[in-house]
Amino acid sequence: MGQRSSAEHRDLSELAPELIQDVLAWWDLHGRKDPALKPWMFTKDGRWPEPHEQLNVLECWIAEVMLQQTQLTVALPYWTRWMAAFPNVEALAAASLDQVRLQWQGLGYYSRARRLHEAAQRLVGRPWPCRLEEWMALPGIGRTTAGSILSSAFNASLPILDGNVKRVLARLMAHPRPPARDYALFWCWSEALLDPVRPRDTNQALMDLGATLCTPRQPDCHRCPWQSHCAAYAAGDPCLWPVTDAPKPLSFQVIGVGVVLNAAGEVLIDQRLEEGLLGGMWEFPGGKQEQGETIETCIARELKEELGIAVTVGAELITVDHAYSHKKLRFVVHLCDWISGEPQPLASQQVRWVLPDDLRNYAFPAANAKIIQVLLNQQVNF
Ligand code: SF4
Repeated sequence: MGQRSSAEHRDLSELAPELIQDVLAWWDLHGRKDPALKPWMFTKDGRWPEPHEQLNVLECWIAEVMLQQTQLTVALPYWTRWMAAFPNVEALAAASLDQVRLQWQGLGYYSRARRLHEAAQRLVGRPWPCRLEEWMALPGIGRTTAGSILSSAFNASLPILDGNVKRVLARLMAHPRPPARDYALFWCWSEALLDPVRPRDTNQALMDLGATLCTPRQPDCHRCPWQSHCAAYAAGDPCLWPVTDAPKPLSFQVIGVGVVLNAAGEVLIDQRLEEGLLGGMWEFPGGKQEQGETIETCIARELKEELGIAVTVGAELITVDHAYSHKKLRFVVHLCDWISGEPQPLASQQVRWVLPDDLRNYAFPAANAKIIQVLLNQQVNF
């Protein structure tokens, strides 16, 4: 970025006091300061904290990790249940990984749950870290999460750079490249916009501005406190920012899945290996359809290879399409009857026969949750 970067940063530095004043004045009136929406941001007597007041660190930490990939309204019920299940770091550290995953079930990006658990085990018996580097040394915590935890809990003067803030800054500056290519510059901008007395409130104001006015597709520029300084607004179409790289096409795969039942009416599930996508989650066994293979052959082959069992592949139960960030999967699910072979975890951590009604005690990814629903609805027919 060379000279252009330093020129843009200098411009923002000159403007920063006015921008801070404007955004805080807007946020004081219109910010999302609702204890029902962000309970971790309030004192125990229900007030927004004064700059000198601390908040509950555990509550802020769990909220910030949940909010890494998830919107506030979606994360809130999970946060509430989580805090009831694990009200202190000792309870979280002492829980089994399966209990932790069960609380996380449905939130996606499941490695976050495992990392929270591991971090809790490292933190138990210690005072809460109060330096950025200490938080970033914990599993699953990057700079923006660490900054958010410390600024929320302690009013520490640390910037953040979540998706909302990146979008607002990219538009304010009409930045000509994707934010990911110029993170150092974006961090400088975010830092320049921190009020020295109210960093907690400034970070909240930037996030609220991005979430409520400077939204991805329909920015409400006429109500925005920064309209008169915003380069994207001046250019006419703020939605052209942030600039993005051309998206890579998502790969597509068909996955054959077997819902295997035994004579006792139990269904076979396996637990994925810890490493990789959805590590440690439970699922119905299956795998990728190979070229030229029927789905029935695929399911029978996968169950033989991964569990060492022979099955009869019966009727289709459901087809579920699910998009991950980097690929689209189509799960074609068939009921299967177990014929022979003791199930073995040849490609998983463990396998288990469970009654359909007990499936709720295991953490499944979202696509499997739909399979379970159909299975339970049809259970009466088995
Ligand atoms: S003026 Fe519009 S584009 Fe610019 S920061 Fe405000 S809402 Fe976003």
